[in-house]
Amino acid sequence: MADLTTLDASSTPRRIAAGELGATELCRAFLDRTAALDPSIGAFLRVDAEGALASARSIDARVARGDSLDGLPLAGVVVAVKDNLSTRGLRTTCASRMLAEYVPPYDAHAVERLRAAGAVILGKTNLDEFAMGSSTENSAFFPTRNPWDRARTPGGSSGGSAAAVAARFSQVALGSDTGGSVRQPAALSGVVGLKPTYGRVSRWGLVAFASSLDVVSPMGATVEDVALLYAAIAGADARDATCALRPVERADLSLGPEVLRGLRVGVPREYFGDGLDADVASRVRSALDAIERAGAQLVELSMPHTRASLATYYVLAPAEASSNLARFDGVRYGLRVEADDLRGMYGATRDQGFGAEVKLRILLGTFSLSAGYAEAFYGKAQRVRTLIARDFAEAFAKVDVLATPTSPTVAFPLGERSGDPLSMYLADVCTLPPSLAGVPAVSVPAGLGASGLPVGLQLVGPLFSEARLLAVAHGVESLLGRVGAPSWS
Ligand code: GLN
Repeated sequence: MADLTTLDASSTPRRIAAGELGATELCRAFLDRTAALDPSIGAFLRVDAEGALASARSIDARVARGDSLDGLPLAGVVVAVKDNLSTRGLRTTCASRMLAEYVPPYDAHAVERLRAAGAVILGKTNLDEFAMGSSTENSAFFPTRNPWDRARTPGGSSGGSAAAVAARFSQVALGSDTGGSVRQPAALSGVVGLKPTYGRVSRWGLVAFASSLDVVSPMGATVEDVALLYAAIAGADARDATCALRPVERADLSLGPEVLRGLRVGVPREYFGDGLDADVASRVRSALDAIERAGAQLVELSMPHTRASLATYYVLAPAEASSNLARFDGVRYGLRVEADDLRGMYGATRDQGFGAEVKLRILLGTFSLSAGYAEAFYGKAQRVRTLIARDFAEAFAKVDVLATPTSPTVAFPLGERSGDPLSMYLADVCTLPPSLAGVPAVSVPAGLGASGLPVGLQLVGPLFSEARLLAVAHGVESLLGRVGAPSWS
């Protein structure tokens, strides 16, 4: 085969089992490509060549012994992992100075599942510090560049994972999605990203940002690859009390666009208002037209609480973050900056360990939880969250899935929004409502805009409807075609 790095994840285990391809050979192809090209992208914070090759060799050894690879659905598949998922013995920094030297003593649940399925973990990808941001520019180390245009952001916070898949440094990648951090970078980088239902994937070992919203989420170049990764990581885990016990349904991707026939697709008008780029609007509109021509019924509807999502999220997520990040006090994990007394040590450690956006979130969160304000801010936001979830429940009484833009704009230039938190927060205006409602949502490429940059279509389904949502996404993907690979390399 010409270039091994173009191989999809889904056919990899079969080829390796058949002896057509060595896992080590495949792993080396990705390591070489990453070594040559990642310096101009910055997708990885750390490449674990030794660990990756060891996993690949153990797959090859099995094949050499004549052992079956059945039961290893990801045998030899090359995966990149966002650096807020704990990896045993491999530094996990959350792109923060606070955890710059932190080496976890255990694997996150999703990482355990990957290893048990035979995956080859190539390394840890860049993110906005503690997953707070939409451009990967809040990394304490360096920004990640978009392979479609290196002067632009790949989105965030899982920008390193999105760029790794788009640039073919890995076949698939894990990210985390709290308010859009997998879907938005997937859209801006021309790949597929699924945020499963809240509680569908264990959060064990995912460094907590906003615990009532955080979801470990798969990314890949195709819906089929994302479905493969999703099946490997989803399911019950007793170590996360919010992890759902119900069995995981397999997605049936055999129907292609036929799955769209008779499907009721809701188009909520609130997602098509002010602030939506003309480029994005026209790509999404033509995607919807194609879906309709394939036999789906488009149903225009209203979700009246959509406009409250941004304010609700930016009360709840910082409140939870301020509490979760209290553990970084110089005593147990990560950085410790000595001072004359205990309070001084806390202050110096947190001042030097956290970047500006993280400090901003801690201040916002502490304020909205403080005595005298908690009811007016945190309590009220909780109640509005219920109304937002109710909008989704009511919509799903009428339609099977919802279709919206994933991001109101295409990838924006690096630096353009870094000084303006509100414009950065607006990047997630379409992805926040499903996060607040806990429902699953996937971003699939809807082609390139007039700018030549990828546009994403977000499909949203009812709670625990991943199997059907992936089948619909697959139908849409086969209808719209893939965006292909960026041409920079
Ligand atoms: N961009 C959003 C934020 O900054 C969402 C981040 C995420 O999903 N982790 O909070």
